[in-house]
Amino acid sequence: MVEALYDKEICCSICKNIFRTKKVRTSAVRLEKRDADFCVYYNGENPIYYAVFTCPNCGYTAFESVFQEISPKDKKVIIAKVSNRWVQRDFGKERNVYQAIEVYKLAILCGQLLNQKKGILGMLCLRLGWLYRYIGEIREFDFLKHAIDCFEEAFRYERLPIGNLDEISLIYLLGELNRRLEKYDEAIDWFNKAVNNRAIKQKRKLDILAREQWRIAKEAYKKQKGAEQNE
Ligand SMILES: [Zn+2]
Repeated sequence: MVEALYDKEICCSICKNIFRTKKVRTSAVRLEKRDADFCVYYNGENPIYYAVFTCPNCGYTAFESVFQEISPKDKKVIIAKVSNRWVQRDFGKERNVYQAIEVYKLAILCGQLLNQKKGILGMLCLRLGWLYRYIGEIREFDFLKHAIDCFEEAFRYERLPIGNLDEISLIYLLGELNRRLEKYDEAIDWFNKAVNNRAIKQKRKLDILAREQWRIAKEAYKKQKGAEQNE
């Protein structure tokens, strides 16, 4: 059997160190199921664990897609705020969920220091939330909340898509994340925007999902209101 993981060689854009980090072969990815906020569960290796690279020498951490996008100013910031305090650690081997949590936290730290796009930060926070969900930790909800804040800003001010998350999927996702945080009025607003957007007609599965989650949010909202009135 072919190994699911392989090594990728990277040259760090901060310290020029050459290091190896694992990735999952596309052919080895086995989808098991997906939650309504697109959180994916895999049979076997989870590509989400490996989508973030960490330089073992200087600590610089980012999504693979933006790892090389570094200006001279960014470099100074990372050296001063990350590398100077970095204790050498290698995340380039096989990762478990706890190591994945560590690298996503490092990526959020670096992303904030570099004022990275809110779309990217939102994606990091969303995935960190999912990692906590995998292990049943309620810190999930802190990071879903951060993801909402970032995605709302991205929706207003940044160019979309964010990776493969296009505008209509983002509108839907904002509904679903708010629903998960029991902010039903916001959730209903976003779902309403989603189902009334013409673009959703091109995505039948998303259309059905949006209507279903909208219905669930409306019912939960009524219940919540009812409970408040009975207090
Ligand atoms: Zn480095």
